Amino acid sequence: MFLGHYAVALAAKKAAPQTSLATLFVAVQLVHHLWPILLLLGLEQASIEPGITVVTPLNFIYYPYSHSLIAFVIYSAVFATIYFAVTNYKRGAAMVALGVFSHWVLDVLTHRPDMPIGFSNVKLGLGLWNSLEATVAVEAVLFLCGIVTYLKTTKSRNWKGMAGFWLLIVVLAGIYYANLFGPPPPSILAVAIAGNAGWLFVVWAFWVDRNRQLAGQTCELPEIARRCKGFSRFRLITNSNL
Ligand SMILES: [Zn+2]
Repeated sequence: MFLGHYAVALAAKKAAPQTSLATLFVAVQLVHHLWPILLLLGLEQASIEPGITVVTPLNFIYYPYSHSLIAFVIYSAVFATIYFAVTNYKRGAAMVALGVFSHWVLDVLTHRPDMPIGFSNVKLGLGLWNSLEATVAVEAVLFLCGIVTYLKTTKSRNWKGMAGFWLLIVVLAGIYYANLFGPPPPSILAVAIAGNAGWLFVVWAFWVDRNRQLAGQTCELPEIARRCKGFSRFRLITNSNL
């Protein structure tokens, strides 16, 4: 799953409109920010075995620290707690927790039975990756739903908010296409190094979100919005989401 994870973040903006899209991106891909580091440190293992699934040649041999059910529960709780401590925004904290955990749900749907519960050999996976057509259909539908929801929740404040968003969508879709139809990666080291590029999309999402505003927001800038009648620092104007 790739686009589906980002789709969750895009859609979560509706439920937690004051949370930056960047934070939601970090949440849904939190374990994929950790996994490359754990690979490089030798704490988790993977190999490249073309044909192991129709969609991906990656064989996830050992990754309980990043992808076990227990790890996801802990990461969800810790990230949501930190987020709430910093922002005091309950909806945001709830969506951060759900965002982190959604990654496990979507990965169980797509992976072959290699998703560990904990550190034992009990593993889950429904194997969507055994069908290219079904995988693309599910990811495309999720991604479209996420895009539509985000566009209904926000509107661009300037050309950067519009162009930046659509360029982000095109790049994500392009990477997905290349992963599906391109050659397998040359090595796990290359996979681990390339995996760190996920932070680029976090920065990009932050920039896009800064150049957009909530669809029902009547002030152009948060600084101005704070001075608008009836709006507090954290409760900027929204249509019906609060
Ligand atoms: Zn994953």
